[in-house]
Amino acid sequence: MFLFQPSFELATGLPVWIGYVFTFVFGAVVGSFLNVVIHRVPREESIVFPNSACPNCGKAIKGFDNIPILSWLLLAGKCRNCKEPISFRYPAVELITALLWVLCFWQIGFNAYLPVVIVFVTTMLALISIDAEHMILPNVITYPLLIAALLVRLIFPLTVGALYFTDILAFPMTYLAGQPVWLISLAGAVLGGLFGGGSLWLIGELWKRLRGVDAMGLGDVKMMFGVGALLGWRLTFLAIFIGAFSGAVAGVGYIAYQKDKDLQAQIPFGIFLGIGSIIAILFGESIIDWYFLTFVPQ
Ligand SMILES: [Zn+2]
Repeated sequence: MFLFQPSFELATGLPVWIGYVFTFVFGAVVGSFLNVVIHRVPREESIVFPNSACPNCGKAIKGFDNIPILSWLLLAGKCRNCKEPISFRYPAVELITALLWVLCFWQIGFNAYLPVVIVFVTTMLALISIDAEHMILPNVITYPLLIAALLVRLIFPLTVGALYFTDILAFPMTYLAGQPVWLISLAGAVLGGLFGGGSLWLIGELWKRLRGVDAMGLGDVKMMFGVGALLGWRLTFLAIFIGAFSGAVAGVGYIAYQKDKDLQAQIPFGIFLGIGSIIAILFGESIIDWYFLTFVPQ
């Protein structure tokens, strides 16, 4: 995807499969922590204390029974103490996080942008899961996302380079040619944030005028401010396009299978925007290249 990156083998002297195994294991561990975040943040509980406990009998889960993915399999999905089933969601979140991290390592490569992409994708996964369960996108996640995105867009050009932010080479950033790179990068972040948040706000307003219902929460708008700031307007456009398309397909499918056709049903749109954002940061450039090669006369 990006040129001039040192390979994992060259940088560490280790075979690349060790990099993949490490990424998978570390991803599963963070996925385990993500389960705590998904469960506690919407309830405004501390994510540090107390230790994880069985949701049924309340008994604290011992370290040996808290190994990501493996413990759930070894315990056959049941609490060691009360034998009540433990939700499949827990190992599923751990496995999905681990696989997403491997995907990031494979697609981005071993470079300074990898941790940024991993944190971004993990944050999206947290927002997707919370929106699916509680229909909210908490400010304690969307605000830090925006601040972190702006910081990355400012600090990267000053330290490791700005080649990861492809929007700074495209319209309308080309008007800033000759300005310092950090300024172009930050301006691209502000534009991307306003574009991401603004389009979501506009879609929500139009929907409200047309249907008379508040379909879109401000959480989606705040989330897309942060996504837009990191990704820039091009990849954000793609993320919203994928999100709106998959959300519409899922919405139509949901209404078709419903017994009492409730057309006012709220759809947690954050799920689809999150999926669109993950696809955009990992595969966006390839998708845009493919689009122009296929559909635009050269
Ligand atoms: Zn129990």
